[in-house]
Amino acid sequence: MTLRRALFVLTLQFLYSLSLLSETNKQSADLLITGGIVVTMDSPRSIYNDGAVAVTGDTIVAVGPRTEIEARYSAQQTIDATNTLVLPGFINGHTHVPMTLFRGIHDDVTLNDWLYKYIFPAEAKNVTEEFVRWGTRLAAAEQIRSGVTTFADMYYFEDVVAEETNAAGMRGVLGETFIDFPAPDNKTNAAMLAYTENFLKKWQGDPLIHASVAPHSIYTCSQETLQDAAALARKYHATILIHVAEMKKELDDSLKNNGMSPVQYLEKIGVLGPDVVAAHCIFVNEADRKTLAQRQVGCVHNPSSNMMIASGVAPVPEMRAAGIAVGLGTDGPAGSNNDLDLMEEIDLAAKLAKISKMDPLAINAKAVVEMATIDGARALHMDKEIGSLEKGKKADLILISLDEPNAVPMYDVYAQIAYALKGSNVRTVIIGGKIVMRDRKLLTVNEQDAIAKAREYKRKIAASLGMQ
Ligand SMILES: [Zn+2]
Repeated sequence: MTLRRALFVLTLQFLYSLSLLSETNKQSADLLITGGIVVTMDSPRSIYNDGAVAVTGDTIVAVGPRTEIEARYSAQQTIDATNTLVLPGFINGHTHVPMTLFRGIHDDVTLNDWLYKYIFPAEAKNVTEEFVRWGTRLAAAEQIRSGVTTFADMYYFEDVVAEETNAAGMRGVLGETFIDFPAPDNKTNAAMLAYTENFLKKWQGDPLIHASVAPHSIYTCSQETLQDAAALARKYHATILIHVAEMKKELDDSLKNNGMSPVQYLEKIGVLGPDVVAAHCIFVNEADRKTLAQRQVGCVHNPSSNMMIASGVAPVPEMRAAGIAVGLGTDGPAGSNNDLDLMEEIDLAAKLAKISKMDPLAINAKAVVEMATIDGARALHMDKEIGSLEKGKKADLILISLDEPNAVPMYDVYAQIAYALKGSNVRTVIIGGKIVMRDRKLLTVNEQDAIAKAREYKRKIAASLGMQ
């Protein structure tokens, strides 16, 4: 009996030390996200039905089946992702975030009337650093809530946009606007160049903020302004953000004044290159698409905006077929789309392509999810950093709840994301390994303050335009 008991105790001790050994053999990570359906968007488009992601610092260290990851890693913090989709964060490739404060200022008008009767006067009277700060803070709350982790922005006082984006823990490709009329921040070209150079220097090497240069378009910038902006960007290896071929008038004027399309004109003056992100690209013919592909320009499709202003339909299937990286953007959030919900753009990108071609096969659900994630990253020239859940990439990921009436049943993951799930289904958001929203509670932005400020700005802006 005694011997048997002793053996039993010894065996227990042995087993216990073995388990300790395996526990100490585990690598330590900072954060484990376990148990959800992990939709990686890596090149084989791997999906792990009971998956896990391990994060150390701001980087993903492992992705795979839950049992495998749990056997290899222990972490101080674990997020239970059961009954959620775990996806790379969405990428909003084109917007003007401080304009949240002009949301709905005047809709159902022509772009020309909207710009000249409402927006330009409203901007001249109201856009200050404070305005940009509160508009960006409100936009950060809205974007995080709907699963956007990276956005590309073009506005004024972009340094303030950068400060707020950084404070919210979001990733941004933030372009200071170049435009040939006195802007709210810089009144001359020399002032614009000096402001932007300081802005680029200040944020060099920042992990979240990619300070960029944003010549507005070929119809608001002279050749000299476009070339100066591009040269400055290239001196600092910064991205160039620009609106391209958005309007029929832009194409007609370019054909008349330059004897060529907007894309060919930008090519001729040396602006196009693998550091350019072109928003819209609606009026791009086959030769233009070839040029954009050869120059490795990233394009951003904005279906809500293109429909709301009745600009036209970008030839997205043709652009993708030509090898161009096409991302998605909300544009707006005022006048051309009054919100920043990228999941709406995923849905609309598919439906707009289908109806415009009268072909339900024109583009499929998987393609539009690619546009919101990995192709969006390629369009922003950031696919080495973000866009998929892979070892070595930044830990930007979102959990979308499947415990919702509109989320069940689920037969196809991509179709569910594109056509059934909504931005409001996003439950938890992690950017660079940091949890910025947990169970729908924002952790980096004081949302109530931003909402109250937006109401206050509405009264001020309305009064400045004589509306009530
Ligand atoms: Zn725009």
